Amino acid sequence: MTTNETAATRARAVIPGGVNSPVRAFGSVGGTPLSIVSASGPRVRDVTGRDYIDLVASWGPALLGHAHPEVVAAVQDAAARGLSFGASTPGETELAELVIDRLQVDGRAAIERLRLVSTGTEATMTAIRIARGATGRDVIIKFAGHYHGHSDGLLAESGSGIATLGLPGSAGVPAEIAGLTLVLPYNDRAAVEAAFAAHPGRIAAIITEAAGANAGVLVPDPGFNAFLVDTAHAHGALLILDEVLTGFRVGPAGWWGLEQRAGAAWTPDLITFGKVIGGGMPLAAIGGRRDLLELLAPLGPVYQAGTLSGNPLAVAAGIATLRLADDAVYRRVDAAAAAVSSALDEALGAAGVAHTISRAGSLFSVAFRDTPVRDYADAKDQDAWRYPPFFHAMLEAGVSLPPSVFEAWFLTAAHDDETVERIIAALPAAAGAAAS
Ligand code: PLP
Repeated sequence: MTTNETAATRARAVIPGGVNSPVRAFGSVGGTPLSIVSASGPRVRDVTGRDYIDLVASWGPALLGHAHPEVVAAVQDAAARGLSFGASTPGETELAELVIDRLQVDGRAAIERLRLVSTGTEATMTAIRIARGATGRDVIIKFAGHYHGHSDGLLAESGSGIATLGLPGSAGVPAEIAGLTLVLPYNDRAAVEAAFAAHPGRIAAIITEAAGANAGVLVPDPGFNAFLVDTAHAHGALLILDEVLTGFRVGPAGWWGLEQRAGAAWTPDLITFGKVIGGGMPLAAIGGRRDLLELLAPLGPVYQAGTLSGNPLAVAAGIATLRLADDAVYRRVDAAAAAVSSALDEALGAAGVAHTISRAGSLFSVAFRDTPVRDYADAKDQDAWRYPPFFHAMLEAGVSLPPSVFEAWFLTAAHDDETVERIIAALPAAAGAAAS
């Protein structure tokens, strides 16, 4: 019989580390990674046939839960008509219209044009190229602990797998390229002002996660995103809002929408999307002002292309997902996240484990320290060794959490009351394991 161990051993013989994305290897929690054969609603099933309640949700895309019948049917219909054409399709226009339409609050639009790509990495890479093309400048500001994909210029102190593996960045990135990225502490206005003062006329853009979710959740201080837009503009630079993770997950118009609904009034120059926009298929996008997006070829001098960009199956999954993601879906995800995060807080408190929970909309994470986490330095300053026993106790109880303390927990609309109760029931024993 195939077990997770035999599956991993076989994989390691042909795939580096047995995985196609590092955090899947369980490096920071130890033990054998699950080898998944199927998923449905809030559950995944491993090669042994065991089911787990899943709080990874494919690292975000599965907003509706896994294999939503209407999304699967849309993909099946599209597949029957052809897998890829390398030509324009009506579906990609429909998806762009849908996204532009959703990115409005009180009649104020966040974006005017949208270009589809296949991964979040491509989206941020292209957004940066547009910003450099538009400004004629080279330097980029990013924040420590923010992850924007694995392109050369964006890996320094970047959270996600880099945080999980305790790496400063990546080998293979030329110093000249890394040197064009200024890495600043998050939520630090003075550092942003000092960077612009130190590099006059050289900074093309600030790129920021709309709310940080790759070093655990890093909530932007009130007004911080608006400050970034204003400061960038005051210095002739642009603001790239990375909503690859938060977009269409924390609300119908992403984190930007949540802030606008709470009374803010700022507009980023460019926004990147990924994950939920493709409903579990490889699809991502760059949106923004018309004058910026029309710098892209074939209209302008900034080059970007992709054999599979706007792939019809991915587009079909994206359209079906966004059409289904109505207010009731967000209310359900919010309610499930609120119930699980408060039960987590309670269980760790009862077990006497120092902890703090960060929440950005329906995204949340735990850090094993007793003071709030505002930036990457805080996130790293915790008793991270408490997470592996906690994680494995939950797994033993049939709940699959993200295999790193530096990742957010993802609830979905398929996590109904009964599923949430089962997660909550597993928490006290796991908190006990974290205490010892
Ligand atoms: N930006 C953010 C905020 C992300 O969370 C991620 C992935 O986790 C990316 C970009 C990169 O997206 P992808 O993994 O699709 O390349």
